[in-house]
Amino acid sequence: MRCGLMNNHASRFGSVLSFSFEIKHAESNSLARVGTINTPNGAIQTPAFIPVGTKATVKSVLPEAMADLGAQALLSNAYHLYLQPGPDVLDEAGGLGKFMNWPGPTFTDSGGFQVLSLGVGFKKVLAMDAQTFRRDDVIAGNKDRLAHVDDEGVTFKSHLDGSMHRFTPEVSMQVQHQIGADIMFAFDECTTLHNTRPYQELAMDRTYAWAIRCLDEHKRLTESRIGKPYQALFGVIQGAQYEDLRKKAAADLGGMESDGQSFDGFGIGGALDKGQLGTIISWVNEILPEDKPRHLLGIGAPEDLFVGVENGCDTFDCVLASRIARTSAVYTMEGRFNLSNSRFKRDFNPIDSECDCYTCTRYTRAYMHHVFRGKEIVSATLATIHNERFIVRLVDQMRQALLDGNFAEMKQQFLGRYTHRSGQARD
Ligand SMILES: [Zn+2]
Repeated sequence: MRCGLMNNHASRFGSVLSFSFEIKHAESNSLARVGTINTPNGAIQTPAFIPVGTKATVKSVLPEAMADLGAQALLSNAYHLYLQPGPDVLDEAGGLGKFMNWPGPTFTDSGGFQVLSLGVGFKKVLAMDAQTFRRDDVIAGNKDRLAHVDDEGVTFKSHLDGSMHRFTPEVSMQVQHQIGADIMFAFDECTTLHNTRPYQELAMDRTYAWAIRCLDEHKRLTESRIGKPYQALFGVIQGAQYEDLRKKAAADLGGMESDGQSFDGFGIGGALDKGQLGTIISWVNEILPEDKPRHLLGIGAPEDLFVGVENGCDTFDCVLASRIARTSAVYTMEGRFNLSNSRFKRDFNPIDSECDCYTCTRYTRAYMHHVFRGKEIVSATLATIHNERFIVRLVDQMRQALLDGNFAEMKQQFLGRYTHRSGQARD
């Protein structure tokens, strides 16, 4: 799995012209299922974890290494790529995958979450404990707001140079079509757990209206861009922690059709109360059409991935695996720890003795400790490879356990050893 990578890579991903989803196995006692998402740039075996390359790169790691560690697809962000280098540059390059030398499937997040984060000062933390966090953990004061929402769209200030921009559902679709990912998300209004109930209702109505506008613009762009591979569009289910709002959003978007165009799949978005994660996901997935894929946005801690899979989500993305790796934090079967801790100075074991990644099969904790303490650039590369492999492999193991009929045992065994609880994040 290590040499001659690009050749294997290209043939492994294969090629189909359009988008489809096929369910191979569905559990009888839960919403979990195993399937295949086919895209013009290759197939994704689900459930699958999709690593994040926010700005068309997984920070510090080459795409060949991402393929080598088992990544089946990568997710980038439309907001960041819109600001820099600009979607026209990606279009001219032949699309996101070509631009970043990734021959497999790609996703783009719509930019809605990012521009709205500027508005409310989210700390980009999605799954949170509603019992213990305070309002000022997630809501910035008015003076700090960099975005304003109205019924037509969002006006925001670039975090790069302070210039003013405006995203509407139409602009988001145009930007994502130019970026050219295989799977795109509709532009939605993302709220926090602490917005008031009336505001959540208002945001839901907006997301509904924006979803129709996204479908219409997506259809128009698809028809006008003849000769390009089909890009799939996923609707995003909001509704925060409210059962009636989540169910209404799932029913509305699940059945939504405009001029013959419907969503190809769905994203479950918004702030999620960690204690209720499974409940909220099941409300939505019991209603969404069974034959379309469901992506859980921004969730990727090991314990939450089990909850997502058993409640019927097919794909996941989260920036945490790479973000925490750069601070020397690593996932292992025994939980999460920091390699810069002095207890690793003379520890000549791999990061995780059960891990088969490039890093664990070649380097020791002592070496990792040394490169982190010395602030060597390779520390980020080696730790990111390990963390991404750990999460990708864990979800692969869940998929195999579903096929083997022992998901519950596998979950119990894993969680019995792995106890660390951490947050989730979109980027
Ligand atoms: Zn490893």
